[in-house]
Amino acid sequence: MSFSLKNITRENIKGLKPYSSARDEYLSDGSEMVFLDANENPFENGVNRYPDPQQRSLKAVLAGQKGIEAENLLLGNGSDEVLDLLFRAFCEPKEDNIISLPPTYGMYKVLSGINDIENREVLLTEDFQPDVTEILKTIDERSKILFICSPNNPTGNSISKERIVQLLQEFKGIVVIDEAYIDFSPNESWVSYLSEFPNLVITQTLSKAYGMAGIRLGICIASKEIIAVLNKIKPPYNINGLTQLKALERVLATSMVSQEVLEILNERNKLIKVLSKVSFIITIYPTDANFVLVKVDDADKRYSQLLKKGIVIRNRSTQALCENTLRFTVGTSTENQKLIEVLKEIEDE
Ligand SMILES: *Cc1c(COP(=O)(O)O)cnc(C)c1O
Repeated sequence: MSFSLKNITRENIKGLKPYSSARDEYLSDGSEMVFLDANENPFENGVNRYPDPQQRSLKAVLAGQKGIEAENLLLGNGSDEVLDLLFRAFCEPKEDNIISLPPTYGMYKVLSGINDIENREVLLTEDFQPDVTEILKTIDERSKILFICSPNNPTGNSISKERIVQLLQEFKGIVVIDEAYIDFSPNESWVSYLSEFPNLVITQTLSKAYGMAGIRLGICIASKEIIAVLNKIKPPYNINGLTQLKALERVLATSMVSQEVLEILNERNKLIKVLSKVSFIITIYPTDANFVLVKVDDADKRYSQLLKKGIVIRNRSTQALCENTLRFTVGTSTENQKLIEVLKEIEDE
């Protein structure tokens, strides 16, 4: 049996009639109208009106840039909201399960807990690639979503294209590819495969390369049919007006964003060269993202030494396959210089 959106959508969601907001019923076409429909305060201060519930201006620009249509897009209050909507649309509490592939992003597990969905974990292989045979053995008819993070957090590597294709073909549920770090990667986005795989969902975010973690804007890209299901359950005004404004400004500033990305990649490569000479660093894992995972002699010890000298990194040692690993985010040139100095001091302690 092949992928069927109808089969995997929860019964209560199928029959749901979404809340219709004032701004859904009537949206300004630009002509002068008197708005007395939404019980707003009429005195203008820039944010006294409800924001566009469908974020039309922002979606038009994003759709153009990604070569898709606005109907292929759903925006969330961070990608975390997008991921939560996917759980709520497709996973029946206490009955369904999802598949995640540790070591990976922690939110898949947290959200499965919140939504009372079994999280079936299939470890990545030693080189941090999906174990396709094991995944296919683990899924059953109640497996609704498979989460693949590429480039993967915290390991930094991209997931093999061949393995993803195989999983998209064999898994009858939804395959989510989390592309939070795609703008740092030399590989192309999976967006161009949308028409080929009806079960493909891609998530992206403005929190990393776009430098807008503070405004909370997550992006979900999928078939129009999947987006229509998610639209039924999203909170009506989930993207506030200030976020829509800031995001629009930023996504239009394409050359500034790509300049910053280039600078971060350049800094990352300089940092990797220095890290390779640090005596207590045993392995530097290949990365397609704006962070570097390293294996050290004693992660707890190195972590607290860095902390004492004012540098906060992430100790990833409790994650599967990540014993004694530390994750460094690439900062500005000045910040990285400071990190390098501190690493040298620690070496001599
Ligand atoms: C940082 C990150 C996100 C971003 O989440 P937001 O809620 O959009 O800030 C999503 N997925 C992964 C794997 C991440 O590392």
